[in-house]
Amino acid sequence: FIEINNLKKSFGSDSNRVEVLRGVDFSIEKGDICVLLGPSGSGKSTLLNIIGGIDDADAGYISIGGERMADMNEKKLTAYRRKHLGYVFQMYNLIPNLTVRENIEVGAYLSDRPLDVDELLQTLGLYEHRKKLPNQLSGGQQQRTAIGRAIVKNPDILLCDEPTGALDYNTSKDILELIERVNQKYGNTVIMVTHNDAIKDMADIVIRLRDGAVRKSYRNEKKIPARELEW
Ligand code: ATP
Ligand code: MG
Repeated sequence: FIEINNLKKSFGSDSNRVEVLRGVDFSIEKGDICVLLGPSGSGKSTLLNIIGGIDDADAGYISIGGERMADMNEKKLTAYRRKHLGYVFQMYNLIPNLTVRENIEVGAYLSDRPLDVDELLQTLGLYEHRKKLPNQLSGGQQQRTAIGRAIVKNPDILLCDEPTGALDYNTSKDILELIERVNQKYGNTVIMVTHNDAIKDMADIVIRLRDGAVRKSYRNEKKIPARELEW
């Protein structure tokens, strides 16, 4: 479903050019949870930004559902970013003067097939908090709201860049379980960057980056992919 082929990216000008991605290759099937591991500076966020259409590669290509991103015109790329892609960051970036429900609705406006907001609030365990403002929430509740905003458009792809980086161990576990539940319920393909090795169990595929290339990648044979589960 997502194919990444010999992807390269450098930053800086000639004299101090840094090659961040030096030919990254891997592919992910629809509905997979892909966990992206690797040391700080190994290019994880850079890769996610290119998949998210907010940065360009220098060479190589990404194809989504058989279509290369570089071949998409501006209109198609905009639609891809707005409707088909959800983004969750370490910093929740909620709008401070909007309630939980309103923050989630912001994501729904971008979509032509939004999920039912009340049902989603229930799934996220946020229904009783729906009228609160972000500063009245715990970190975990804020991150659940941010996940709601990303997922309410029912995106094909959910990109998460260290979604638990600002949370304690138990809250992190809750958030990762929630992402897994969302993946199983809605079938979104998830690519998640994390420093937390302990969550490899939830991955269908694990990619380890090192020095700008895939150092190791493997499928988790024990995991039953969401697309094969019955509902
Ligand atoms: P971390 O785990 O710390 O988040 P990461 O794997 O996400 O690290 P990236 O953010 O992708 O790493 O950065 C990889 C390298 O690219 C770093 O050396 C960084 O300084 C550099 N870099 C990233 N974005 C830019 C940019 N816009 N301009 C210049 N250099 C950049
Ligand atoms: Mg990063």
